[in-house]
Amino acid sequence: MPYGGGGIRSSSPPRVEIVPPTPTTSIERRIRFGDFHSLTIPNARCPVCGASVFFYQNAHGSRVFFDELGPPWPKHPCTDRTSNQAMVHRIVVAVPQVAQPKHRADWLLEGWTPYRIVRDPRGRDDRTILRNYATGDYVEARVEPGRLAGIPVVYARMQGGRLILSAVTGGSITPVYIETASFRRLAKKPALTGFLLHVEIEKRLWRELDAKAQVSAILKHRFSRLGLRRH
Ligand SMILES: [Zn+2]
Repeated sequence: MPYGGGGIRSSSPPRVEIVPPTPTTSIERRIRFGDFHSLTIPNARCPVCGASVFFYQNAHGSRVFFDELGPPWPKHPCTDRTSNQAMVHRIVVAVPQVAQPKHRADWLLEGWTPYRIVRDPRGRDDRTILRNYATGDYVEARVEPGRLAGIPVVYARMQGGRLILSAVTGGSITPVYIETASFRRLAKKPALTGFLLHVEIEKRLWRELDAKAQVSAILKHRFSRLGLRRH
């Protein structure tokens, strides 16, 4: 056995249940506002040593086993070796058959909290709106949205008076850390104003008109088939 640290040794393969990959392997599909404890429960077994681990797959199709699903993003050693990369690509997610799964989240103790990247309705190119998964509160951070492109969830914590963001990104699932220039808490979700609000209202009106037209077309068709006339 190439790795002997803390794994579950077993001569027979662990009992596994094959589940669709997306809901369990992407961070954003595993959590809800007010509840992110699922990020602390391993969702897979290491195919080499049998330890319970976090199987993660991103939009690029890259897959990795983490020992913890959060900063500093520790990759599970067995499957981090190049020789074992093939196993990562063969694996299907195995949900551990454990009644009371062991929570693992040193990142939580170290002050990190997951935040959702929210589309800024004002479309500013120097700020990013984040929403705290624990409290539901909104924060506006001085970070170009482009730096967080393709990242739905970041982890954030205070460090020396600064808000630091962390996520894994790209085909190689590299951890990134972004120091925000400044940040402020928002009283509520930023709302549209001025021209953007006008555009949004117009869009909604068009959708409603469209829906009404469709309903009347359906009714017309139904009555014509029955040879009836509407009164
Ligand atoms: Zn392992």
